[in-house]
Amino acid sequence: MSEALELCRELVRFKTDENNVGPALEYLLSVLKKAGFSGKITDIDAPGGQKVGNLFATAGSGGRHLLFSGHMDVVPAGDFSGWKYPPFDAVVADGILYGRGIADMKGGTACFAAAAKKYLASGGAGRISLLISGDEEEPLVDGTDKMLERLSARGEKFDFCLVGEPSNPRRIGEEIKIGRRGDIVLKITSYGEAGHTAYPHLAVNPIHNLVTLLAELTRSPLDNGNEFFDPSTLQITTVDVGNLASNVIPAEAFAQIDIRFNSSHSGTSIVRWVEEIISRAPGRFKLDYEIAGEAFLSKISPDVEKLSAAVRKVSGIQPEYSTKGGTSDARFVKKYCPVVEFGLTNGSIHKTNECETVENIEKLTNIYFEFIKSFFA
Ligand SMILES: [Zn+2]
Repeated sequence: MSEALELCRELVRFKTDENNVGPALEYLLSVLKKAGFSGKITDIDAPGGQKVGNLFATAGSGGRHLLFSGHMDVVPAGDFSGWKYPPFDAVVADGILYGRGIADMKGGTACFAAAAKKYLASGGAGRISLLISGDEEEPLVDGTDKMLERLSARGEKFDFCLVGEPSNPRRIGEEIKIGRRGDIVLKITSYGEAGHTAYPHLAVNPIHNLVTLLAELTRSPLDNGNEFFDPSTLQITTVDVGNLASNVIPAEAFAQIDIRFNSSHSGTSIVRWVEEIISRAPGRFKLDYEIAGEAFLSKISPDVEKLSAAVRKVSGIQPEYSTKGGTSDARFVKKYCPVVEFGLTNGSIHKTNECETVENIEKLTNIYFEFIKSFFA
C-alpha cells in the first residue's frame, strides 16, 4: 500500500463529522513532523463555546513559498444503513476506498502530504506549508480565514496556494478551478395588515405583494455569463407564511433566495439591484442578507500553467480551467495570494458511499509531486 493511500485510510478513520477534528489534525501533524515539518494546532472559538482546531505546518526555508489548503471536517454520514461499508472504516474493495470525507477532502490532504514528504526526502528546496482547517463545512467559524489573518499578522507570505478540494467531475485531470462564483442568501419579509378574507379591503395581503416581488426578481436572467463563468443563478429556496387559517389574511410573509453570482457582480451590487426592485414593488418589505462569498477569478499565471502541465503529464488529460461549483476556502485565500483548486473527483461528495479509486489517489499524489517539483524548479 502506498503512503498516500495509507494516510487516506488513517484520516478517514477519525470521525470528524461532529466538530472533533483535533485527533485527526494531531495525527497528521505527527506524520508531517517525521518528514521535517514543524507546526501546531490553533483552536479558534466557534459558536456555542466550542473550539475548532486548525493546523498550520511548514517545512523548508528560503525561495518561494507554496501553500496547500485543505480541511479535516466532513459532513455527517447520516444513517449508516445506506453505506456498503461503515463510513469511518476506510474499507478498500475492488480498488475503491469507501469513507466519509475521502473525496471531500481527506484524500486531497493525504495526497498532498505524501507528495510534499517525497519532495523533501529527495532534497528539494523551497518552503512548503499546509493549512488544514477544522471548519470548512460547519459550524462556519471560517477557520482558514481566521488562520490566514493570524499568519499574515506575523509576517507569513505565500507565493501561491493550491486548494485540494475535489475539482474533477469524473476523471482526474478534467478541471482546475481558477475561480468560484459568489454566494448571497437574501431573506425578504413582506409586511401587510392581517384581516378577514371576506373583507380584504380592510387588510393588506403580504403574500400577494411578495409573489409580485418574487416574479419581478425571477423575470429575467441576471446575466449571460462571461469568458470564464456560466450565467449567475437565482433560486427561491423557501416561501413561508405559516398560516393555518383559511379565512385569515396574514400579517407577514417570508421568502429566502440563494443567488450564485459570477465575476460580473459583487455581493453589494446584487443587494443594490434587489433594493432597487423592492423600491418599485408594491408593499412594504425588509431585506436581510448574508454574503457567503464573493466571486473571484485567478489569472492564468506561469504557476497555474505548471499545475496544468503536471496534470497533463500524469493523467494524460489537458485540464480545463473552470469556475463551476460552490464556494470553498479559496475565497479567503485569494486575499493573500493567487489560488487555484485541484483535487480528487467530486461525484460522490456529501453522498452515501462517498468513495474514490485507489488509482485516482495515486494519480493525484503524483500530480501534486510533479507540481511541487516544477513550482520550485
Ligand atoms: Zn470540501
